[in-house]
Amino acid sequence: MAQPHTIVFSSALDEPPERLLAERTALTGCPWHDVRAMLRHVGLRPTRQRMALGWILFGKGDRHVTAEFLYEEANKAKVPVSLATIYNTLHQFTQAGLLRQVGVDGSKAYFDTNASDHHHFFVEDESALVDIPATEAVIDKLPTPPPGYKIARVDIIVRLKREDEPDRGG
Ligand SMILES: [Zn+2]
Repeated sequence: MAQPHTIVFSSALDEPPERLLAERTALTGCPWHDVRAMLRHVGLRPTRQRMALGWILFGKGDRHVTAEFLYEEANKAKVPVSLATIYNTLHQFTQAGLLRQVGVDGSKAYFDTNASDHHHFFVEDESALVDIPATEAVIDKLPTPPPGYKIARVDIIVRLKREDEPDRGG
């Protein structure tokens, strides 16, 4: 299979020419300058790698990605970046409030480009994380926290499997 023609990020990343910028905007709907403004807004310096990864991450609407998945996307987009840098960047974005980390298993963390409060379905066999619509009540009474504590956030993951699948264990 022929390699698709891909925009090379490394050469024109900081100040993309107007034509490239227009193409990028047309491709994803996420203007390049928005990523820069978004990074600046949360106090992160818009480095080449942050710009590239931010553009890949946030250019496709709300979604849930793992570090490995983002690494593959970066490779496809010809962004030269290591998996370690991907992890660092994801954690920096999370700390800055741009992403929200959703832990499903100890081994796997998903990063949600929708950082607002919401809950998730997790389809176990497909390892797919899906937003629960905000209209669906998930919990109607929160437990009382111990003295001296308050609830910071509630993350609910409702695990799903197909109806025709047998129950495990038991
Ligand atoms: Zn979500």
